[in-house]
Amino acid sequence: MSDPKPISQISIVEDARPSRETAEEAVRTLIKWAGDDPEREGLLDTPSRVVRAYEEYFKGYLADPEDILKRTFEEVEGYDEMVLLKDIRFESHCEHHMAPIIGRAHIAYLPKNRVVGISKLARAVEIYAQRLQIQEKMTAQIASAINDVLQPEGVAVVIEAAHQCMTCRGVHKPGVTMVTSKMLGAFRDNPATRREFLSMVRSPSSTAHELV
Ligand SMILES: [Zn+2]
Repeated sequence: MSDPKPISQISIVEDARPSRETAEEAVRTLIKWAGDDPEREGLLDTPSRVVRAYEEYFKGYLADPEDILKRTFEEVEGYDEMVLLKDIRFESHCEHHMAPIIGRAHIAYLPKNRVVGISKLARAVEIYAQRLQIQEKMTAQIASAINDVLQPEGVAVVIEAAHQCMTCRGVHKPGVTMVTSKMLGAFRDNPATRREFLSMVRSPSSTAHELV
């Protein structure tokens, strides 16, 4: 038996992707399941809009975050202090309910031989977010992609997010934020490094925002 494919290599293009018509028909089925009539005027164009929206929500299946991170290596010129990118806003969808997850990621790493442009870190977050996700998995995926590609002294990823499957259905608990973290290397092994990271993440510029 072959190993399961790493998620970064999963692409809907290479799998048997249904036609647009089939996808739109599925939306019509869900409209009927909700109790409405997909033939009424206000809903006539909804299936095609929903299918186009899905192309946007899930375009992360078409990109490889590791490729993005690999693209811009630079010499660090002796810089070996923490690089921290805070408050990377993202929108994702939970894989259990396909409901929105809206949150922020904070990423830090301690460079060893190379650094990457900060826009590439934000782009890697976006690619993982534009897939069906659970927050824990996304946190670990971002950390391990940075760790694998940049091979730094350490990586830390903290994600704070609100899950609409909790606020709009089920337990109906608005205002709840879930926080997940993944620490690798120096951030895991060195309490001072971890403390420095967490205090930078908690400093007012990040807590001043609302998660909306
Ligand atoms: Zn959910």
